[in-house]
Amino acid sequence: MDIIHVASELAPVAKTGGLGDVVHGLCKELVRVGHTVRIILPKYDTIPRSLLQNLQVHMRDLWSYDGPNCYHNTVWSAKVDGLDVLLLEPHHPGYLFSRGAVYGCPDDTDRFLYFSRAVTEFLFKSNLKPDVLHLHDWQTAAIPALQKEIYEPLGYSPLKTLLTLHNPEHQGKCSPEQLSKIGLRGYECLDSGKFRDPLNPALTNLLKGGIVYADLLNTVSPSYKKELLEPKGSFGLEEILLENQKKLSGILNGIDEDFWNPETDPYLKVPFPAHTPFTKEKWKLTKKNKALNKKELRSQLGLSDSKKPLFACVSRLVEQKSPLLIAHAFEYVLAKGAQCIILGSTYTKEMLSFFSSLQEKYNGKGEGVILLDYNEELSHRIYAGSDILLVPSLFEPCGLTQMIGLRYGSVPLVRKTGGLLDTVSNRNGFLFENPVKEELSSAIDFASDAFEADGDRWEELMQYGMSLDFSWKKAGAEYVDLYKKRPPFS
Ligand code: ADP
Repeated sequence: MDIIHVASELAPVAKTGGLGDVVHGLCKELVRVGHTVRIILPKYDTIPRSLLQNLQVHMRDLWSYDGPNCYHNTVWSAKVDGLDVLLLEPHHPGYLFSRGAVYGCPDDTDRFLYFSRAVTEFLFKSNLKPDVLHLHDWQTAAIPALQKEIYEPLGYSPLKTLLTLHNPEHQGKCSPEQLSKIGLRGYECLDSGKFRDPLNPALTNLLKGGIVYADLLNTVSPSYKKELLEPKGSFGLEEILLENQKKLSGILNGIDEDFWNPETDPYLKVPFPAHTPFTKEKWKLTKKNKALNKKELRSQLGLSDSKKPLFACVSRLVEQKSPLLIAHAFEYVLAKGAQCIILGSTYTKEMLSFFSSLQEKYNGKGEGVILLDYNEELSHRIYAGSDILLVPSLFEPCGLTQMIGLRYGSVPLVRKTGGLLDTVSNRNGFLFENPVKEELSSAIDFASDAFEADGDRWEELMQYGMSLDFSWKKAGAEYVDLYKKRPPFS
């Protein structure tokens, strides 16, 4: 099949979280099984030039619209980790993608609306007719409407669109005028059957419009699909999702087992076998080398060589991830005499100041370290060196860190929600139900006792977790089946 992805993230060149990993891992799998795949993303100024191979101009004269103005764009082609990538560079006075960051600007909706229009213009001008146009989250959710409302009437044959909902908490709410600026009729878009926001009827909502206009929809785990159809878990979208549920499926993400491979991971002090079956010898080596990684991690972060478990958390520190529970777990673990590392990226002043004060209190003074940074290398070392990985999320469409933890022999302790439910069970980790301190503390007690009590039982837990297949093979095949679906999608 010929598949074009349009996304705001692609690991490793533009990643802020799981979306970048997912686009990268899925595309690699689709290429591996013989499909033609291209990925279109903005040419952010933060993309390291060294990660782009064969960078060259693909189209020099692409004009696109922003209200009454028309701006010139260059489309570049390049290879990223063997994948074919097209990078859109707008020559726009707002320097839309030269902001030193992927997101976080007050005009984010304008930036990605401009991108969406320019991409559809590019597809049209290039007369590209992929079998499916795969879109990701609100940033690209206006594309199906642009296709249907503007380009189909121009005679551009219909493209089948699939919109994946990676994190429907973020919906791209904006004013109808902003949609008018990219050529859609903003006030007509305010229709309840189009882009009208379900919670604020004066606003348009890009994700909602995507749900209405896309031919196919999916989210990133079967359990989260169920949650999305309930008022509690849908961020106001349950009605429109129920209306469109025939189009909606749930496909559990995979992880890129080449990138997340303890056997070849260049960031580790020493590699260790992760693939089953574990012979006695192989398992001995895994234990020995994982212990060396733990020793190195402890020494790097100034922690002692204790017999107690080393807990860790690698996360964006945003509401979704239960930052207060993460902080509680950190202090609770230390009070028990065990160790804890948090590697967290912060996006608001409040969160930065909250965790900075914990940092001041604990870093360098005992058995806990908080690092407020996005650090790819350190994240790998933490997965490899830790014993227990904390994921107490409030909601979690899929979650990748628990799967990475499982592969690196770091046993996950998670809340029973979304994709965490589809990947963690009593056979490979620890779960708690309600997002409250007491339940998290009990789960920490339980996990910590299990670690200290019975070495054989702990090793069984680790081995079973490491034996699970979270590669993209299964998910890749499910996506191909989905790409082949035709209306009425029954
Ligand atoms: P989300 O996409 O909601 O952030 P996921 O669990 O799906 O959560 O994916 C998180 C990805 O981002 C993982 O690859 C994880 O290792 C990485 N990550 C999260 N926070 C950090 C950080 N502070 N430093 C390095 N990597 C991080």
